[in-house]
Amino acid sequence: MSKIVCVLYEDPVDGYPKSYARDGLPKLEHYPDGQLLPTPHKIDFKPGDLLGCVSGELGLRKFLENQGHQFVVTSDKDGENSVFDRELAYADVVISQPFWPAYITATRIAKAPKLKLAITAGIGSDHVDLKAAMERGITVAEVTYCNSVSVSEHIVMMILSLIRNYIPSYQWVVEKGWNIADCVARSYDLEGMTVGTVAAGRIGLATLRRLKAFDVKLHYTDRYRLSESVEKELGLTFHPNVESMVPFCDVVTINCPLHPETEHLFNDALIGKMKRGAYLINTARGKICDRDAVVRALESGQLAGYAGDVWFPQPPPKDHPWRTMPHHGMTPHTAGTSLAAQARYAAGVREILECWFEGRPIREEYLIVDKGKLAGTGAHSYTAGNVTEGAEEAAQFKER
Ligand code: NAD
Repeated sequence: MSKIVCVLYEDPVDGYPKSYARDGLPKLEHYPDGQLLPTPHKIDFKPGDLLGCVSGELGLRKFLENQGHQFVVTSDKDGENSVFDRELAYADVVISQPFWPAYITATRIAKAPKLKLAITAGIGSDHVDLKAAMERGITVAEVTYCNSVSVSEHIVMMILSLIRNYIPSYQWVVEKGWNIADCVARSYDLEGMTVGTVAAGRIGLATLRRLKAFDVKLHYTDRYRLSESVEKELGLTFHPNVESMVPFCDVVTINCPLHPETEHLFNDALIGKMKRGAYLINTARGKICDRDAVVRALESGQLAGYAGDVWFPQPPPKDHPWRTMPHHGMTPHTAGTSLAAQARYAAGVREILECWFEGRPIREEYLIVDKGKLAGTGAHSYTAGNVTEGAEEAAQFKER
């Protein structure tokens, strides 16, 4: 029997939904590059239901308890007296979503002698100290591709909403105004602009494909170059590094994982190399940007707008400056947890657990760390190291 501790975000303030806005979800056959969707033997939830909150339990309880495992679900994840901290001492497996990350720091790993598997219900395992996980032989796995397209849709939404000045215009309507001049004094067209992505992996490439229709010039940088045929099809300009790309761009979208190479990549110096009045979109990870450098750039006009979905830590303190800085379009890490995405990652987590308990290998593309080293997608997209420093600040959300 194993103990599985699962950290999920809180239920809606009005309680777990009794009904939904739509009936069911579109059925997808496979991911855009042909990769198979999650393939568990069975699921015990209805796709389209809210699975990522505590009462949703990722639809796993029946499956785990039928096999005699102990399954603990909590949203109380930060601070030494949190339920997560206490349960960790006996946990064999931890499941956490990046939206409401259970930070698995070296200190916590030291307090979790039985922990063997950390599953990310989503994509991005930077909330785990990967260096400490390697040293302890903990396997880290995530559900690669489950929400990459969801995020690319969110990015297009954010680019358009900043450039068209959508959020302030909407606000004028809510406030019963009709202030056209106020709305359009910061409103532009995306057509003809240059958009660059930092990384052209699953999300970056899906974003480039969606943006192609807007008649923009598309640039990218990545550790790996895309095939000649894809570059030609999308009319892409490749740059060997981010510094050489950003001076060309009216819009920059960040789509690389957070790892030692990308931590605080967008600091004063790099933002200073961008065009005055550029827009920066960060749905990747909050820590890829220097918090205060972003605020300074918006205040000085170096950036015309910043839209992001990701913060550090999460949840951010109530006085986090990104809540109140000018010209922002922030969301509380929702890009990859649409109801459609949840159905995929809940099924993916079940697939990983079935493999684990049946002694079958976890799909290579799901692996981040295995057998003491980076593996699978981890070896492709990450560098070894720890980027969880400062995560304990998340406890301040409860306090302040
Ligand atoms: P992916 O593994 O398919 O692609 C990552 C790409 O980043 C790879 O092509 C890799 O070569 C590139 N890369 C790594 N380091 C780089 C560097 N220093 N410079 C340039 N490129 C670099 O992953 P993906 O599905 O595209 O997801 C990317 C990231 O997006 C995740 O790791 C996660 O942090 C974030 N994400 C956010 C959400 C959300 O809800 N906001 C959801 C899913 C993923």
